[in-house]
Amino acid sequence: MQRRQLLSAAGLISPMVASALVQLPCSASAAAKSQVKTPMKTLKSSPKMPVLFLGHGSPMNAIEDNAYRRSWQALGKEFGEGKKYPTPSLILCISAHWITRGWWLTGMQNPKTIHDFGGFPQELFAQQYPAPGAPAVAEELSKQLVSPIPKGFVGVDMDKWGLDHGTWSVLKPMFPNANIPVMQLSMDYSRAPVEHYMLGQQLRELRNQGVLIVGSGNIVHNLRMITNGKPHDWNIEFDAWTAAQMADRNYDELANFLKLGNLATMAHPTHDHYLPLLYSAGAVDGKDNMTTFNDSLTMGSISMRSVIWS
Ligand code: ZN
Repeated sequence: MQRRQLLSAAGLISPMVASALVQLPCSASAAAKSQVKTPMKTLKSSPKMPVLFLGHGSPMNAIEDNAYRRSWQALGKEFGEGKKYPTPSLILCISAHWITRGWWLTGMQNPKTIHDFGGFPQELFAQQYPAPGAPAVAEELSKQLVSPIPKGFVGVDMDKWGLDHGTWSVLKPMFPNANIPVMQLSMDYSRAPVEHYMLGQQLRELRNQGVLIVGSGNIVHNLRMITNGKPHDWNIEFDAWTAAQMADRNYDELANFLKLGNLATMAHPTHDHYLPLLYSAGAVDGKDNMTTFNDSLTMGSISMRSVIWS
């Protein structure tokens, strides 16, 4: 009750309060119990889908012929009949660029392509990703997902959002035909990191119903400290810490990143690009193995480290 009062009184939670909430040990197990367990009526069962976390970096990666884009193109070719991974029936993307109050699922039949950036060439603004949405799934899933702490909600957005560049800049190279339905889940930015992790745990079961879960952000992301030179020490250090937690399967610990204090603040002055990792990590199960790619640091203050769990 104390926590509930605190949350309703505080409005936006300060990093300090968020840090205190992260320390609560009971939270993750509570979320495990609230996992989506019953098969969703709007989805069919499938072989288990992998979970992705993709470092998206600059929006220009969507159109530049570079190593990142080529890796996304190659990854997309691993999905399909007789390939390494089955064709997804739905892609559920948690993008760094959709932060909200409450959690929202895009519920449009034809989500629009959002060009949520400025100062880039016209060619980038001309990009479209006309993948269909999945309104019936959004409706059902919004009723199944449970806000980890009372007074939260998961709603269906019918007209405000669409597919932002955190989603389409990686999906367009991966699945250029745009024929797989795509839905975005927003992140309630007033919530502590552990709650994002708990929401991710609730998504785990969807992997057995053809849903490809894609977290799209960056493991280190500090646009105020971009350079043309070597990576900052804190970029190297935070990237290595995150990689070590994932390698040791300490997924809970990822949600505890604020305990790193100044290191965490330098790596993420705001949390939007880190939080998508917590959704992907929450959806990982004990049998998954991790494959890392694009594990490079760029522009001094960005990590492109990306992960497939399968
Ligand atoms: Zn971004």
